[in-house]
This record gives sequence, structure tokens and C-alpha cells, in this order.
Amino acid sequence: MLRAAAAIAAGAAATACTRSGAAPAAARATALLREAERAGARVTVLAVGTWLDEQPAMARRVLDGGHELGNHTLHHRTICALPEDEAYAEITGCADRLRALTGTIGSWFRPSRTQYATDQVIRLARRAGYPHVLSYDLDSLDADDPGAPAVQRTVLDGARPGSVVSLHLGHPGTVAALPPILDGLHRRGLRAVTTTELVT
Ligand SMILES: [Zn+2]
Repeated sequence: MLRAAAAIAAGAAATACTRSGAAPAAARATALLREAERAGARVTVLAVGTWLDEQPAMARRVLDGGHELGNHTLHHRTICALPEDEAYAEITGCADRLRALTGTIGSWFRPSRTQYATDQVIRLARRAGYPHVLSYDLDSLDADDPGAPAVQRTVLDGARPGSVVSLHLGHPGTVAALPPILDGLHRRGLRAVTTTELVT
């Protein structure tokens, strides 16, 4: 039994589906979930509201795979720089979509375009029903598409027991990197879990 754990938080943003020549966003997101499931791993998906608008069926697909689904704002704006009412609307706009699609707003809110939330954003998230704001300590830098070997190296060099690793849905390099990442974590006695499992 592996006891130490590393949570994988995979972000899903609408911007990822505008790249030309790429497979539809839902197919690319599903590819990553499938690689996790094949290895017995579960991830926490932080979804952008407009991304859910474009592929609403993904909300159930995430939960049906045993993964966790949370809030990553409505439009993925620089939330810490927004006036209070606009920042609040970014949080509740995504929460409304999560509730409509799944019956719950999810356990986690992760702020957009920042690693850490400001005190104001933490307060607004609480008001919207999220007692805990999620951050990460290890950025895989996969959103820059550096290639699967680079993503794999960054994660395996940096992962520690209790790490929260940031990955993104919609990037082929991330899909290719996930199996060797999960294998490498396993060999180090680490197990990939959802954020909720990490903190409970
Ligand atoms: Zn993001």
C-alpha cells in the first residue's frame, strides 16, 4: 500500500480548444482522463465555465471516471486584478454551471491566472460556497507544450509527498507524459490522488 500521495490538478480552459487542426477539446480532455484511469489514478479537474458551456457532457464524464470536478472561474480572467463584483461573478458564474450540470458546485475553487489567491478572492470564494481555495506547488509547465519528456522530467524532479501538481487538459504532450509520470511516482512510493483524498 502506497501511503504518500501527490494530487494532480488538471485545469480545463476554453482557450485550449481554439487551436487549429487539433482534435475537439472534449476528445483531448477524455484522452488524459483515460490515461489516468488506465493507471488507476484519479485527478481533480478545475473547469472553466465557458469550457463547460462548449462541452457540457464533460462534467459527467469527469465524475463518472471517479475524478473530482471543481471551479476555475467563468472566463479565466486575471481574477486577483478584478473589482470585487466582477471577481465574484467569475466564481459564481462557473459555480452556477457546475450546479446545473452535476447538482453541486464542487469542493474546490482555484483562482485563474495566479498561483495564489488574494485575501479578497479567498473571501469571495467563501461567500460563493468554497471554504477552501486550491493552489499548487508544482507547475508542470505543460501549457507551453514543451514536449512530453520535458513535462515528465519537470513533474518527476519536483514531486514530493503531498505535492499538488498542475497539469492541463487539451495538450497532447500532457497525455503522452502522464503514463510515465504515474509510473515514476509509483516507483518512488507516491500515488496520484484527488485533492480531497490528499487533504483527508
Ligand atoms: Zn488556469
